[in-house]
Amino acid sequence: GTEMSLKVYIAGELVDKADAKVSVFDHGFLYGDGVFEGIRVYNGRVFLMDEHIERLYESALAIRLEIPLSPAEMTEAVNKTVAANGITEGYVRLVISRGAGTLGLDIRRTSDPQVIIIADTISLYPPEMYRDGLKVVTASTIRNHAGALSPRIKSLNYLNNILAKIEATDTGCIEALMLNAQGEVAECTGDNIFIVKDGVLKTPPPEAGILEGITRGAVMGLARQAGLTVQEVAMVRHDIYIADECFLTGTAAEVIPVVDLDGRKIGSGTPGPVTKDLLERFQTLKTGG
Ligand code: PMP
Repeated sequence: GTEMSLKVYIAGELVDKADAKVSVFDHGFLYGDGVFEGIRVYNGRVFLMDEHIERLYESALAIRLEIPLSPAEMTEAVNKTVAANGITEGYVRLVISRGAGTLGLDIRRTSDPQVIIIADTISLYPPEMYRDGLKVVTASTIRNHAGALSPRIKSLNYLNNILAKIEATDTGCIEALMLNAQGEVAECTGDNIFIVKDGVLKTPPPEAGILEGITRGAVMGLARQAGLTVQEVAMVRHDIYIADECFLTGTAAEVIPVVDLDGRKIGSGTPGPVTKDLLERFQTLKTGG
């Protein structure tokens, strides 16, 4: 996966990165009209590929976008792209845009959807963050209202999250907590959130207006295997302030402890035992254990 030889899958072919281009009339570019996925590759294996492919097709269905490949063909194209770039530890970005059209919004005046697959190496978060935990701030930008653009759709329109991410980076944090229109906890800009309180693992339900993270699902499964009670329940910021432990999950971050929200120390102020155990279990799962 060196810069020079990176091959991108576009319009059914693997082409040099420099030649992988889309039209300025593509509605993905003009309007954020499209869907995407981010997937990890561990040990040369595309991690939880079926789950990601399923979410991709569900997102596409929700925005009335017909992907020109079957899920099986998409899986094959992803594997081919990963292999062509010799990626054993890395990241796959799958992008389906509406395709080139006129300057109007009408999807009937666009061409076939564009399928793009990028397989590359990934820059990881520094190890100290996993050891010491993150400080997170609550953004003033609320999560998209599900009735406007459902957060369950992994759409190309990430402006909502970007505005919250700016608030995070302005205060020196790498993640911001986003609330929904009811003031309940939704998720972070690119991660789902969990707390541990009195031995119970809790995370907001899909109805809170979240992306149903694949990592979130995997961690809930690991927690149940470990004998923990797992609850999808509505929560407010106060629940996080008074939690015993808190962590985030996401494809890029995996499982990362949170030790401070809005200047309130969570639990002991260091990554807790349940978080550490789940982090370890996730490390085993991702490498095929
Ligand atoms: N929420 C949002 C808004 C995200 O963009 C992501 C990253 N895809 C997540 C949660 C975590 O989801 P996943 O575990 O599938 O990466």
